[in-house]
Amino acid sequence: MSDRYLDFVNSSLGQMLAKNLGLPAPLPLDRFVAGEPVVKGAVLLGAASGSDLTTTIAQVLANIQADTYANFDSAVHGAAAAAGLATQAYAPSAEDSQKFKALVFDASGITSSEQLIALHSFFSPVIRKISSSARIIVIGRTPELLDNAKHATAQRALEGFTRAIGKEAKKGSTAQVIYVAPGADAGLESSLRFFISPKSAYVSGQVVRVSNTGIAGETPDWTKPLAGKVALVTGASRGIGEAIAQTLARDGAHVICLDVPQQEADLNKVAGEIGGSVLALDITSAEAPGRIAAHVKNAHGGLDIIVHNAGVTRDKTLANMKDQLWNMVININLSSEERINDELLAQDAIRANGRVICVSSISGIAGNMGQTNYAVSKAGVIGLVNSSVATLLPKGITINAVAPGFIETQMTAAIPFAIREAGRRMNSMSQGGLPVDVAETIAWYASPASNAVNNNIVRVCGQSLIGA
Ligand code: NAD
Repeated sequence: MSDRYLDFVNSSLGQMLAKNLGLPAPLPLDRFVAGEPVVKGAVLLGAASGSDLTTTIAQVLANIQADTYANFDSAVHGAAAAAGLATQAYAPSAEDSQKFKALVFDASGITSSEQLIALHSFFSPVIRKISSSARIIVIGRTPELLDNAKHATAQRALEGFTRAIGKEAKKGSTAQVIYVAPGADAGLESSLRFFISPKSAYVSGQVVRVSNTGIAGETPDWTKPLAGKVALVTGASRGIGEAIAQTLARDGAHVICLDVPQQEADLNKVAGEIGGSVLALDITSAEAPGRIAAHVKNAHGGLDIIVHNAGVTRDKTLANMKDQLWNMVININLSSEERINDELLAQDAIRANGRVICVSSISGIAGNMGQTNYAVSKAGVIGLVNSSVATLLPKGITINAVAPGFIETQMTAAIPFAIREAGRRMNSMSQGGLPVDVAETIAWYASPASNAVNNNIVRVCGQSLIGA
């Protein structure tokens, strides 16, 4: 549904009123447009002294042909040259009109709390020089994998920096920290590409871990990374599921669109538009896991990606909630996913370098009034991700989840007006996200180059204050 306030506040009258009355002033966010560069504007690359990820980062920036600058006295120029990236020298103190679309900082060399001043030294002089929908990305080492306590403490501290700057930066900007496990440097590219691009428009304040999964990576054609892959999306007839199906198909996948038989007309339409196929069934039915496994094996010889998107809300305060409503929500949102995963694994129906991708919710992280059943189901989805790693990884399969915040769909259109407006505005973007924002995050997980992205729960919530 449309956000009329966002349209109004970007008119000249709306801009004046919002300024004078101190109202939230959301800006339209940059979103991915096929054929445009990964990052549309200058990138400033910095590094704390002793950092060892700079060449890897520079290699990615070279691959995406980023217009890259580094402070004139920075050691970054040498590391960049080693990666074949030409960098321009920049004086941060200059009173110029230079604008940066992205600030990328290699913080891996910060080994003590005293050295955290490097964050201030790099970001403070240039934070006013970011353009709208800018990207702030800090890259460090996974704290819990570091032997040295002071090093681990300093790396953990990066999270506070990105979460705070995400709230300060405004203008539709995002901020994240990406932790790279020692030895997992080669796995950074898919994540850096996603977080520096407009595809991550509504993802902010997140902590992402790139880890040593032992799964061999694939270097895809980045314009069609899912070419040759088969994906199944549940709840694909509308809303977020429809956007996921469209986005995975855009990236080259054959998408099997699944929804309940009552939605078959809409499902046929979605599948028809993207050259996908249809599987009309209720995921809670006893035969669903078997039918799904048989279908993917018989029609496609196996599956590369499954996206568990189908989900429902049935809100009531606990005192008023009948057990049928409780059971229905848990069954659709959680138990059916467990049964389907178990069957697909038992039948060896997911291929190596496969992806299981779940849809949780910030309600599952923070809880929500009137949503005990839903919050239980969506927290359970996070549990499902965490607890499935041990079974899936030996088979070369990753599992991750998105946790959407307020996304403009039929589900959120049904929320009473005042609560809806609060949900929409109480985030760093002062607006709701679009289904495509969730879909792009899922497409990042789905990429065959995301073999090192495992066991992550990334919120797509514009850095919502709920559960922050
Ligand atoms: P939606 O109601 O528009 O779409 C959900 C789809 O799932 C529908 O097409 C429905 O028919 C299908 N579905 C429901 N039960 C099913 C079953 N038993 N078998 C097969 N299909 C079934 O909802 P949406 O807003 O697009 O939400 C998609 C997912 O995102 C859900 O898991 C939801 O919980 C989650 N989510 C949404 C938001 C939001 O703001 N919209 C926020 C957080 C999480």
